[in-house]
Amino acid sequence: MSFDNTYARLPEIFYQRIEPTPVERPGLIRLNTALAGTLGLDLPDDKSKLANIFSGNELLEGMEPLAQAYAGHQFGHFVPQLGDGRAVLLGEVVAPDNRRFDIQLKGSGKTRFSRGGDGRSPLGPVLREYIVSEAMHAFGIPTSRALAMVTTGETVHREEDHPGGVITRVASSHIRIGTFEFFAARHLENEVRILADYVIDRHYPEVRTDANPYAALYEHICLAHARLVAKWMGVGFIHGVMNTDNTALSGETIDYGPCAFMDHYAPDRVFSSIDVQGRYAYNNQPTIAQWNMACLGGCLLPLLSEDEAEARSIGESVLQTFTPAFKNEYQNVMCSKIGLAACDAHFQQVKALLNLMHEHHVDFTVAFRQLCDVPRSADASERFTALFESRDAITAWLKDWRTQIDATTSQEDASKLMRRSNPTFIPRNHRIEAAIRAAEDHNDFSLAHRLIDILKNPFEDQPEHAEYMEPPQPEERVRQTFCGT
Ligand code: AMP
Ligand code: MG
Repeated sequence: MSFDNTYARLPEIFYQRIEPTPVERPGLIRLNTALAGTLGLDLPDDKSKLANIFSGNELLEGMEPLAQAYAGHQFGHFVPQLGDGRAVLLGEVVAPDNRRFDIQLKGSGKTRFSRGGDGRSPLGPVLREYIVSEAMHAFGIPTSRALAMVTTGETVHREEDHPGGVITRVASSHIRIGTFEFFAARHLENEVRILADYVIDRHYPEVRTDANPYAALYEHICLAHARLVAKWMGVGFIHGVMNTDNTALSGETIDYGPCAFMDHYAPDRVFSSIDVQGRYAYNNQPTIAQWNMACLGGCLLPLLSEDEAEARSIGESVLQTFTPAFKNEYQNVMCSKIGLAACDAHFQQVKALLNLMHEHHVDFTVAFRQLCDVPRSADASERFTALFESRDAITAWLKDWRTQIDATTSQEDASKLMRRSNPTFIPRNHRIEAAIRAAEDHNDFSLAHRLIDILKNPFEDQPEHAEYMEPPQPEERVRQTFCGT
């Protein structure tokens, strides 16, 4: 690997230089060779050498490990000091296509920011993050990625004992809203500006020439998140902990803690065991993302204008771009799921379908996937209708939908668009849970490998894996997810 570390050149207050704490007996579970190729990494073949590298036991030349400082609003409450408490940034690599990436270990030991935590991760959350982040990438949704995962040979104590794991995460960066909040809360205006300039150079260089580059930066981040959340909603993804410290300024999804995909469609769905108020429910995600953007705006105020009133007015007008941008992308995402171009009439048709899916407890992913074949086959039409508890309303919906297709596109094109927009496979909670149980309880990674392999091509039919399409049986249903920290 050849490293080119820029974050480590920032002032010392941005991080703590700290090496990963070695683990007892590292074992490689999986290396993402495709991603290693994209990054242009030249890695050894030897598995034990790989396990040493991706556990943090062995540092490579050019790595300058550090733990990043950040703050954050957790469930609406401000915590002035969080930071990488169980992660270290090993360094940055520049891929052959010139994109820059952070290489980070998670589960790699204590840092100054660990606050009472052990700096470690159970294997379960490592597997979940690997499976889900790689699936999100395959869906075409901006996300951090998983380069490798290892077992540590150590036990991690939570409510019960678990085998430990370390994941190697790759992201455009790990700078969060909470990174700005760390400095803003300490009234370190100079550091806020240094960070803003760094974020512009690294992620949004095009705003440099804008009349007000910091306002343009803020707007770019707002728009990136408006689009991101719309894309999440299109696959039924519920992030679960949309705290400002888990909101990356690059516009990528980060921090796969208690995240989950919904099975049957229910707009108020919550999985996270700690989200008792439903703050981060499926349909609350756009509101929360905008709330998070307001936190970011508060940090950037001194940069927007020297005049406080003017700065506020600039900040507020940027914040108002969020909702229309979200609605626009959400309409695009959802209308393409029924094979149609985005417009108000088609969006009304989507909403009518979602209402029926909700009322009839229909699986979100199965319904949209089966709809893909309805234009082409009477059998498919029958199968789709049978998903609903009664036929009349959905039959009427299908009739209206066919009329819209005939008026604006062709059955063939609608079908093609739907097949690109509706995955066959999602990382279903019960499949993730089964993979975690096999790994943690029986040291058996075959289910995890199978799930990861299927999810590399989520839009293909893969009839040999048909059971992975299915929603859970009642006894398999996962009702809650835990972040496992
Ligand atoms: P998260 O829930 O991953 O967003 O983490 C919130 C904060 O808690 C971050 O500052 C983490 O670094 C810290 N944290 C979570 N789990 C641990 C742990 N096991 N040891 C130390 N710090 C942790
Ligand atoms: Mg986090």
